[in-house]
Amino acid sequence: MAIQQKLSLMIPGPTPVPEKVLQALSKHPIGHRSKEFQELVESTTRNLQWLHQTQNDVLTITGSGTAAMEAGIVNTLSKGDKVICGENGKFGERWVKVAQEFGLEVIKIDSEWGTPLNPEEFKKILDEDKQKEIKGVILTHSETSTGVINDLKTISSYIREHKTALSIIDCVTSLGACNVPVDEWQLDIVASGSQKGYMIPPGLSFITMSKKAWEATESSNLPKFYLNLKSYKKSLLSNSNPYTPAVNLVFALDEALKMMREEGLENIFLRHNRHKLAMSNAIKALDLELFADEKYLSPSVTAVKTGELDAEEFRKTIKNKFDILLAGGQDHLKGNIFRVGHLGYVNDRDIITVISAISNTLLVMGKISAQKAGEALVVASNYLKTN
Ligand SMILES: *Cc1c(COP(=O)(O)O)cnc(C)c1O
Repeated sequence: MAIQQKLSLMIPGPTPVPEKVLQALSKHPIGHRSKEFQELVESTTRNLQWLHQTQNDVLTITGSGTAAMEAGIVNTLSKGDKVICGENGKFGERWVKVAQEFGLEVIKIDSEWGTPLNPEEFKKILDEDKQKEIKGVILTHSETSTGVINDLKTISSYIREHKTALSIIDCVTSLGACNVPVDEWQLDIVASGSQKGYMIPPGLSFITMSKKAWEATESSNLPKFYLNLKSYKKSLLSNSNPYTPAVNLVFALDEALKMMREEGLENIFLRHNRHKLAMSNAIKALDLELFADEKYLSPSVTAVKTGELDAEEFRKTIKNKFDILLAGGQDHLKGNIFRVGHLGYVNDRDIITVISAISNTLLVMGKISAQKAGEALVVASNYLKTN
């Protein structure tokens, strides 16, 4: 029988929340126009810029990650604008829907789920656009639904060569897990959400805006009110918000960002990389197959094919027996894959535990030998040793 209080969230969001952050959440709210709160806005904004490696504005919106992506689109584009949407999973698919909902003309660049987008396809279409009709390129860096990371560095270099198109990037499960140097890669708009790498509960989202992105807001004619980023920018001049923000989540954000600064960006990236390698190699040692192309594994989620095993039954067993929640597959992948989230507040113990739970379950089912179960742990330990 599962012990609910012990449930360990090994899903790619919401992710586990540190004790210190939980304590910050449980305080009495304060007035969002108070000096005290302004100081919090000031410090969290500064730390967000650190996390994004940028001098650009980073705005905090009360809303989930999708709100930040929608804000990026509706603030910079206009009805009928041509945009390229990269689509190789559920989230890429969502941004196509949002773009179409707002009357944008979508040029889709897709690739089979589990494989990365091909940067050269972006280059080709951008190069051919001599009239500079393409106003934006919208894509997902880490495709949480499949466990694939797209080559954002190369694609963003092609977007820059085009000069007109803005990059509008979903970095929801890459930011705070691997390197996303917003200034160095000259990313115009980057969106993320609190329940992923930030180690805080759902409810806040973040968006960076480059100078070029702000210029584009001047001609954008798509409807917006709550998500009008000019209001957020204006309020930020006095370290404030246009509307009542989720005050307690900002307390939590402040704590979480301080923890991240203490650990250091490089260490955070190394930790995620180590966990990715330990997880993916242990999976292979268990004779299971990775769903994603091995050269493009996301730092934050590992998707696993279960072959003739029902992935949903497998998840249920792991949850009931070990109090570990794994994520299932979405759409056509439901029942065919499970996904292990290793994003945010995750340590080596969590990784060893989830691998043990998976191998123990396979062992009990008679799918693998005891030797294999042991080998998977040896493989994982070897990856965890290195830094
Ligand atoms: C979680 C996630 C989002 C945001 O989804 P919300 O439910 O709106 O927070 C967006 N993109 C990716 C890749 C994600 O993993």
